[in-house]
Amino acid sequence: MIEARNVIKKYGAVTALDDFTVDIPEGKIGILGPNGAGKSTFVKIALGLIRTTSGSITVLGEDLDRNTVDIRRKIGYMPEHDCIPNSMTGVEFLIEMGLVTGMSLQSATQRTHEILGHLMMGEEKYRKIEEYSGGMRQKIKLAQGLIHGPEVIFLDEPTSGLDPKARQEMLETINGLTEVSGTNVLLSTHILQDVETVCDHVIIVNNGKLQMQENVKKLMQRQTDVIQVRIGGSTEDFVKQLKKSGITATSGGRGLHVPYVNDKTFEQIVDSAVKSNCQLYEMERTTVTMDNVYLEVVD
Ligand code: ADP
Repeated sequence: MIEARNVIKKYGAVTALDDFTVDIPEGKIGILGPNGAGKSTFVKIALGLIRTTSGSITVLGEDLDRNTVDIRRKIGYMPEHDCIPNSMTGVEFLIEMGLVTGMSLQSATQRTHEILGHLMMGEEKYRKIEEYSGGMRQKIKLAQGLIHGPEVIFLDEPTSGLDPKARQEMLETINGLTEVSGTNVLLSTHILQDVETVCDHVIIVNNGKLQMQENVKKLMQRQTDVIQVRIGGSTEDFVKQLKKSGITATSGGRGLHVPYVNDKTFEQIVDSAVKSNCQLYEMERTTVTMDNVYLEVVD
């Protein structure tokens, strides 16, 4: 669906994307990473809103530099920030957005009522947007991105600012609407649960680089064997000492996670604690799941 090759994007001295290469398949894809990772920058480049500093990108098989207009017709966008006019009703706004994308009044009207029906909006659709709740505003933003029947919709932090109930509802709405229309989804978020609920594939980004690309089900099933370690003393010295034995510890749980290889790993931990003058408070073999994998990748 999207192919990026060695993309670099700089904003002055800040490098937002740093030699970013990815091949994104069709389906429902999550772009996951902490704030400032470079997710929005990537989405904006893929939408043709901003240009790369260097590198190339193709969207739906087309070169963005050459064919922006045709590509935009095939893409929908739900921006993170609130950008909908308060003075219009939901119906008026969506019809207007349909007309802007080149639809006839008749098809824009028909499509508006179809989408609002799926969103289960009743009489509220004739009320001014200023009266809408946060969740309803997000739904209208989603609807405007789908009005022209795009092949793929880009959702930038779609659950931003919603309480847990509204978030769950929003995620279900995204699933419902995109399944009905068969639309591909590119969902950018810093929330793992958004990806688990909506996506079948995930791309993890950190510091402008691709850290991991994985099937969501596989990632959720993936469990890693670690030894949970809690020490007293200098964690830094202990970690350095472990490193000398070829072991990389990461922060996790209430202390450190040391990858379990075999029972000898326990001896190496004890040895490193002695050599770094640290006291061992806890050493327990356990498994970590997707949450931890994500935290380790972006650490
Ligand atoms: P994310 O969407 O993952 O939160 P962004 O793509 O928004 O990350 O930002 C990546 C980096 O680029 C951050 O360090 C951010 O401060 C910086 N950045 C983003 N937009 C601009 C801009 N218009 N001008 C300068 N720096 C920017």
